[in-house]
Amino acid sequence: MFESLSDRLSGILDKLTRRGALSEADVSEALREVRRALIEADVALPVVKSFTDKVRTRAVGQEVLKSVTPGQQVVKIVHDQLVEMLGGAGEPIDLNAAAPFAIMMVGLQGSGKTTSTAKIALRLTKNERRKVLMASLDTRRPAAQEQLKVLGEQTGIETLPIVAGQSPVQIASRAMTAARLGGYDIVMLDTAGRTHIDEPLMVEMAEIKAATNPHEILLVADSLTGQDAVNLATSFDERVGITGIVLTRMDGDGRGGAALSMRAVTGKPVKLVGTGEKADALEEFHPARIADRILG
Ligand code: GDP
Repeated sequence: MFESLSDRLSGILDKLTRRGALSEADVSEALREVRRALIEADVALPVVKSFTDKVRTRAVGQEVLKSVTPGQQVVKIVHDQLVEMLGGAGEPIDLNAAAPFAIMMVGLQGSGKTTSTAKIALRLTKNERRKVLMASLDTRRPAAQEQLKVLGEQTGIETLPIVAGQSPVQIASRAMTAARLGGYDIVMLDTAGRTHIDEPLMVEMAEIKAATNPHEILLVADSLTGQDAVNLATSFDERVGITGIVLTRMDGDGRGGAALSMRAVTGKPVKLVGTGEKADALEEFHPARIADRILG
């Protein structure tokens, strides 16, 4: 087990007998530990740097309060800065649009896109009482459309009937038409992934977006994504324009640094968190919990 960041900071800073303001030197020493903790938590390096710069600005010169030790005070500053950069209160999925509208799910293969599509559909059906239609636009992996159909049967959410030979854009357009005719509120579009980002994938995503005008475009990403998180989030955001992030596998022992990395580089909120394989293993995002996890 590693020592928690708060213990390490207390160890460094509580040697200070002198009270008064935190000096540049005190803060710099503490920030070396903060940097280590963030790297251990898989935060991408450019984000580590901008984070520690912000903490330095906030901490240097701050009077140490009588009620706490300097270590505790720096831990609080780090924690508050993390929560702020993770997005404060957390944001729900925006349902404020005329029905039927699309929610487009994008991301790499294996990130948990199909599972998250069904989880969100179930939540919107049960908690928000919306009539939801799911459609798989993954024509590359033969089993993908079938996988969503099975999930639909398990959760009781309707899926668009599979028609062989259609392109992703044709399926997406058919889903929107079926939703209009069938009185659905929301269409969940489960797009194809790849093992890595490539140009044809981005072109396909842009075409689906143009055909369906989705109200939300959610990037599904594995919380264990490390240094790749920045590239992943910026690519999808620049090329497709995401409105939020769904972070999967938060039930694993990852420390959640990807949440900070992706939020910091795109400014887009983490909206939901996957916490297991079951259809109800989906939770709202709580920045303070992730901050605690990152701090260890
Ligand atoms: P896709 O290729 O992006 O559509 O990924 P899938 O939805 O098929 O998910 C890949 C695997 O990850 C499946 O075995 C899922 O059950 C699993 N999975 C998805 N989300 C989570 C999660 O939040 N926690 C855990 N433990 N497993 C998940």
